[in-house]
Amino acid sequence: MSELTEYCTAEQYKGKATMEKITSLAKRRGFVYQSSEIYGGQNGAWDYGPLGVELKNRIAGAWWKEMTRLHDNIVGLDAAILMHPRTWEASGHVENFTDPLVDCKKCKSRFRADQIPQENLTAKKCPDCGGELTDTRKFNLMFKTHIGPAEDTASIIYLRPETAQGIYVNYKNIIQSNRMKIPFGIAQIGKAFRNEIVTKNFIFRTCEFEQMEMQYFVKPGTDEEWFAEWRKQRWAYYEKLGIKMDHLRWHQHGPDELAHYAKDAYDIEYLFPMGWRELEGVHNRTDYDLGRHTQFSGKDLQYIDQDNNNERYIPYIIETSAGLTRNLLMIFCDAYDEEQVAEKGNEDDWRTVLRFHPDLAPVTVAILPLMKKDGLAELAQDIRTELKEDYATDYDQSGAIGRRYRRQDEAGTPFCVTVDYQSKEDGTVTLRFRDSMEQIRVPRAELSARIRQEIKTYKRIK
Ligand code: ATP
Repeated sequence: MSELTEYCTAEQYKGKATMEKITSLAKRRGFVYQSSEIYGGQNGAWDYGPLGVELKNRIAGAWWKEMTRLHDNIVGLDAAILMHPRTWEASGHVENFTDPLVDCKKCKSRFRADQIPQENLTAKKCPDCGGELTDTRKFNLMFKTHIGPAEDTASIIYLRPETAQGIYVNYKNIIQSNRMKIPFGIAQIGKAFRNEIVTKNFIFRTCEFEQMEMQYFVKPGTDEEWFAEWRKQRWAYYEKLGIKMDHLRWHQHGPDELAHYAKDAYDIEYLFPMGWRELEGVHNRTDYDLGRHTQFSGKDLQYIDQDNNNERYIPYIIETSAGLTRNLLMIFCDAYDEEQVAEKGNEDDWRTVLRFHPDLAPVTVAILPLMKKDGLAELAQDIRTELKEDYATDYDQSGAIGRRYRRQDEAGTPFCVTVDYQSKEDGTVTLRFRDSMEQIRVPRAELSARIRQEIKTYKRIK
């Protein structure tokens, strides 16, 4: 019997990634759990477990480095979730941030009218049960709550539905405090909330999620050039992360899809197990947002170009807007692989492996003593203590070594270090590579540098 049967039957291993397999692996290995599961779960909300929070932090870190550290003219911000309610009147969200909603009178299913076939809509026929559909009505996606003890209209406040507005209302502060000159950008990662009508496909569409947004302020007239440049840069970013590029494509918004603020918009779409879906948007938001905030706040939000005779204008904004949690789902799906390894002559021996880029993997190195006894565990712990400073490490001493490798493959750990009897004699350890399963002997003294080198030169092989 294969050692894998402890985790999954060989039958289940065969075939392609499905959303069910992804969801189940994510739960089993502590990446993502359903929110409030003991109470039956809360729709549209998910909790990130020990491996999930590490993965999420690393994805956020990679984006942050890309957008701020690698650009001299992009700075960061962390604005509050609760903003003055006028913000959302100015932004157009109170009026326009709606989805068209229909209900089935018979089975009580609820649909977004733009996501069911037109013929069902015209015939008012439920796509699930054939029952009668209600008229389409507009439903505002913002979560409303109250601030302070009185629950009246004066105390209404919203949970932000996007992080962008926190950037716009701070744009003048940042110009002044950081002496920014156009063109420049402001990057932000944070929570956003949308009362989504239909939440399905795991963490793809949730009511509480995180966004990674960068707003780039440019001179009107140069916006189309910057729009093209940012499309190029965002595409190159996913290539750098080692994402399967044939699973990514562009989708340009047609006139009926464009948001109220946009002059032009492209989505980067990813081929998820359920099909092509939006991953990130690149939008030319024109001077709409700053123009509206000028109007609603009464503050002058023009940029004064001191290098150009104090020319004044409201900048245009190019936005790159990616979901952090949706990126995590994409990276998880992209990394997921089932491979027939046929070890020990067993044709049915499959493994599940998450081929995360080592920069993103929640655990970089796992240290495994071959045996607990004869001082091997102590030696392995000692090596872990040394590597801890530089890498996210795990330690596992229980079970057969093959089974421990499989556990690390499922967690996406790119490197395993095995400590055996030879290690005690000659100071070498085994370094095992997740993707190729190749094993080499490395002197302990060179281990950290060798791992560093492997991360730097990492190329995905499958
Ligand atoms: P969709 O068409 O999928 O509803 P959108 O066009 O409304 O998305 P944007 O407002 O452009 O999305 O948001 C930017 C990014 O934020 C999206 O590309 C996506 O990655 C992420 N995002 C938006 N809504 C959600 C959600 N409900 N759950 C998770 N991520 C989301």
